[in-house]
Amino acid sequence: MSLISSFWDGFIEKLGKSKDNNPVTYPLLKYAKPIELTEDIITVSVDSPGAQEFLEKRANEIEAALFDHSKKKIKIKFIIKIPSKKNISPPLLSFEPSIEDVFVKSGLNKKYSFDNFAVSTSNQVAYAASQAVVKNPGSAYNPLFLYGGVGVGKTHIAQSVAKKILELDRNKKVYFCPGDNFTNELIESIREKATGRFRKKYRYLDLLIIDDIQFIAGKNAVQEEFFHTFNAIASSGGQIILTSDRPPSSIKNLEDRLHSRFLGGLTVDIQPPDFELRSAILLIKAKEKGIEIDIEAVKIIAERITDCRGLEGALLSIYAKTFGSKEKIDLEAVELFFSQNNGEKKKRINPSEVIKTVCSFYNIKQSHLKSPSRAASIAFYRQIAMYLLEKELGLTLAEVAGMLNRKDHTTALHAKHKIGNLILRDPNLKKEIDIITQSLFQST
Ligand code: ADP
Ligand code: MG
Repeated sequence: MSLISSFWDGFIEKLGKSKDNNPVTYPLLKYAKPIELTEDIITVSVDSPGAQEFLEKRANEIEAALFDHSKKKIKIKFIIKIPSKKNISPPLLSFEPSIEDVFVKSGLNKKYSFDNFAVSTSNQVAYAASQAVVKNPGSAYNPLFLYGGVGVGKTHIAQSVAKKILELDRNKKVYFCPGDNFTNELIESIREKATGRFRKKYRYLDLLIIDDIQFIAGKNAVQEEFFHTFNAIASSGGQIILTSDRPPSSIKNLEDRLHSRFLGGLTVDIQPPDFELRSAILLIKAKEKGIEIDIEAVKIIAERITDCRGLEGALLSIYAKTFGSKEKIDLEAVELFFSQNNGEKKKRINPSEVIKTVCSFYNIKQSHLKSPSRAASIAFYRQIAMYLLEKELGLTLAEVAGMLNRKDHTTALHAKHKIGNLILRDPNLKKEIDIITQSLFQST
């Protein structure tokens, strides 16, 4: 052991035993590394500006303790040293981790890569931006902020960037972190008084991805920490990618300084996939799973199911149903699947349940809904009930009208068109109707 380390270790050991220890100073000194010792100055390195500032303010105290230990007047100096690869000598006999191990360590899922990512009009800007980030990480767009609804491929594209960067250089420090994990990990580290470890993990990355960043909004300590994480990474040339279900300006309770950081790079939206993209995704997923499927069958599924997650689910269900009886998924198998699915729905709920649910959701009386009253306030909910009876239960328009004591089926037809159109324009109404529909199918 060198003179300097034995001197420092002895000092730290003694300090640890002393009773009147500052509870912060001691741990910080313990993790500091002695760099240089001259006649009257010792230089040690710490790994954050915060630690440096804290210790510098207490230099007198520490120098007194040093005097106590060595009986010599020694000044102490703190420098910041970012752990770099060069300082970590590799063990003599090391097995290079496989690239898969590196992916796992970086929080990546082997499911996602650019190789199985289909590009179309809805996501081509996001795709191009992510390629630019792969080529020039830390400088092209920082941060790259991707937003879009559920299942549009945000996680897929963000993970693909990470993977590509590691494939080009597996020594890059890359970390993919779901937004709620970042939050939980920080809270945990505060509780365990281990924020130093947390910072070490996050602040020296070459690429940090926070997936679903909207989760940190409203939590002050988390936003504060993320702000510093962001600055530390960006200022040392690292890249940040953020994903969210909404644009920065729509994230409620987001600190202004974070908001402006988010807008400081490139913000790109990803739109819901169009029919062509849905077909392409289905083909990719089928190929990955070794499922044979006719192109006609693909088209029907892509027409009926409009979100990416649903596509994979439907593919698997149809596959499970045809397995053993057919070599491949064909048109017939798909049509059977959809008709059975509808059949099940129709069997499970009865019309009076729909009326009951609409009434209890909007707080109105069933007798009012079925009454001759044409008051606008009631008529609207009646139309919603009619719309649902037709759409979800597959009743004929005449049956729908009958359920609500209307003589003429055109009332039901009018309701079907009116609510159908309103849903397209009014997201709140759509949400309400989704909730009603969901509760109908769940309660059975
Ligand atoms: P998000 O994070 O936006 O909610 P995901 O990235 O989790 O969406 O995507 C949902 C599913 O759809 C995943 O299985 C993903 O692989 C698939 N997917 C989405 N977009 C594409 C695409 N363009 N090409 C291939 N698969 C896609
Ligand atoms: Mg996601």
